[in-house]
Amino acid sequence: MFADLHLHTSFSDGTYSPEELVSQAQRFGLGAIALTDHDSVEGCARAAQACAAAGIEFIAGTELTAEQQGNELHILGYCLETENPRLLVQIARFQAVRQNRIREMVARLNQLKVPISEEAVFALANCRAPGRPHVARALVQAGFCGTLDEAFERFLKKNRPAWVPKFKMGAAEAINLIHDAGGVAVLAHPGLNRTDAVIPGMVAAGLDGIECFHTKHTAATAECYLKVASQFNLLVTGGSDCHGQSKGKPLIGTMKLPYQHVERLKARAARIKAAAPQTSAPP
Ligand code: AMP
Ligand code: ZN
Ligand code: FE
Ligand code: FE
Repeated sequence: MFADLHLHTSFSDGTYSPEELVSQAQRFGLGAIALTDHDSVEGCARAAQACAAAGIEFIAGTELTAEQQGNELHILGYCLETENPRLLVQIARFQAVRQNRIREMVARLNQLKVPISEEAVFALANCRAPGRPHVARALVQAGFCGTLDEAFERFLKKNRPAWVPKFKMGAAEAINLIHDAGGVAVLAHPGLNRTDAVIPGMVAAGLDGIECFHTKHTAATAECYLKVASQFNLLVTGGSDCHGQSKGKPLIGTMKLPYQHVERLKARAARIKAAAPQTSAPP
């Protein structure tokens, strides 16, 4: 049995609905999936329902954007209590930051004489956690760019003219938030960020796991992070990071994580949940 623990839907910058995602998971014979939309847990209820109908195990997750020592990091939260009030308050805050950032990016594009409207971007995004991929899609749809890559290269990449920095919480704060919601905190695609120096600090802050297997990791990269996992006694996870059709061919089905890692993840989640009442109880 295999799992894919890194998937996006149209509740962030993926193109599949939760139901479409689950039907793809079924098509590729996955036994378990986790939904990890950026700064959102909104799609989890529908994905859970579709998974139950399809006989697939579902893990509620999210992918939070954080920073450590000036580096942007993505932190995955798994087995989350998706109704956790503190988690929902913080997610609403990150979503507001994302929406304001869209407005600022559109204003910069307008100053560059690229007349796209924020309404067009929000209509296209149609979610509470819009991001640069939605601006890129709007630029392509309006004919200002030929491809999404061109939109990023010309306007949206870091330090390009329409790029706007995003407020990010600290990595330790993200880990705490995930633990508080009963979840397991995992460093996403470390091979993409190439910020290995932050790992010891994150482990000290309570990091539970590391995403060794990812579509953009080579076999050598995966091997390198398997060693890091064993060195720091971290859980091993993996996923395709499928965004549906938004970046060419959908990636779901290309990364199959052996189920034993899901069992370990769930065992850790159970321990975190069991510990939670003690940590939050009054002295
Ligand atoms: P944001 O969260 O708004 O900063 O946007 C980050 C998202 O943009 C991530 O899902 C990235 O995978 C995506 N992204 C970054 N660079 C590119 C690119 N050149 N082409 C397409 N998507 C990209
Ligand atoms: Zn994304
Ligand atoms: Fe990511
Ligand atoms: Fe992702």
